[in-house]
Amino acid sequence: MKPFNIEDIKRLRAEIEQLEGTIVIVPHINPDGDAIGSVLGLASILKNAGKQVTVISPNHFPEFLKWMKGSDELLVYVNAREKAAKILNEASMLICLDFNHLSRIGELKELIENWSGKKVMIDHHPYPQGFADLEFSHPDYSSTAELVFHVTKAMGYEQYIDLDGAECLFCGIMTDTGSFDYNVSDPQTFNTVSELLAFGVNPEDIHGRVFDNYSVDRMRLMGYCLSECMEVFPEYHAAVMYLSKETKAKFHYQKGDNEGFVNMPLSIKGIHFSAFFTENDDQIKASFRSKGEFAVNEFATAHFGGGGHRNAAGGEVFDTLEATVERFRKLLPEYAEELKRTKQD
Ligand code: 5GP
Ligand code: MN
Repeated sequence: MKPFNIEDIKRLRAEIEQLEGTIVIVPHINPDGDAIGSVLGLASILKNAGKQVTVISPNHFPEFLKWMKGSDELLVYVNAREKAAKILNEASMLICLDFNHLSRIGELKELIENWSGKKVMIDHHPYPQGFADLEFSHPDYSSTAELVFHVTKAMGYEQYIDLDGAECLFCGIMTDTGSFDYNVSDPQTFNTVSELLAFGVNPEDIHGRVFDNYSVDRMRLMGYCLSECMEVFPEYHAAVMYLSKETKAKFHYQKGDNEGFVNMPLSIKGIHFSAFFTENDDQIKASFRSKGEFAVNEFATAHFGGGGHRNAAGGEVFDTLEATVERFRKLLPEYAEELKRTKQD
């Protein structure tokens, strides 16, 4: 993995050591396990180093992450706009984690764009916008959580990592690699996990807290989507699933219930490109996953106003669900050659 610029590490450490005010840490909108694991893991480390830290999330985060230490103190911007804006205005430093473009933080964009203090970004997505004063941009890392572990270690802050912080960082790596299924080809990732376990992290316990925590409704919704709302295109090695507002209502949908659905078609033999569309009140959320070379971030950018990683990307659409799915079907022939070429099995 790309080594850190040691001067940047020294600068970050020097700036953190000398500052007296609050450090605000922000994840991306609709934060996932890596985003929340990274912000709460870093918050724990910096608090143990004697710093004042506030985490502000652009919006709500999933229930299955609420066991993390510090999650009860996390400010949700859309629930506490004034309080969050005041804290941000008075803060001494801003650290942005798990995003590299200001379009990824919803309503917080304007506040942060116009914020004049020192901005730091630590992230593993490709194509950084370059909005921060100090950037640790490493797309070769499995997760931002792994990156946070190594940045803080390089700063000499390993002494401030405790079991609570290590659990958050472990959760970030576990969720962003699909429980060590993808983005784990670099041996360093397993070394990182090994180091985190040495803090006392119990991997089975954490896995259970995150993945064995679903409602009966969610399980039945998954079954329904798999049987009624999935189309498979073997000739294109692709599949699409979709979730309408009507289906959501039928299964008493709670935010996050569709987590992981997009990955499921990839376990069908011969399928290595999967799309999932969720109909929300104000937009259609698109999620894409692939195995192997097919770059879903390029696909998401070209057609669905989004981006992400090569094998995991997303975007959003302002159209009907039917029209969106139809557009996806019609795009597949354009990619026939590429999808055939990138076939793995
Ligand atoms: P998910 O499908 O889990 O929502 O997102 C997978 C990945 O795609 C995220 O980690 C993020 O990098 C990226 N992503 C998701 N939605 C968007 C979006 O609307 N815009 C951009 N640029 N990236 C997205
Ligand atoms: Mn991530």
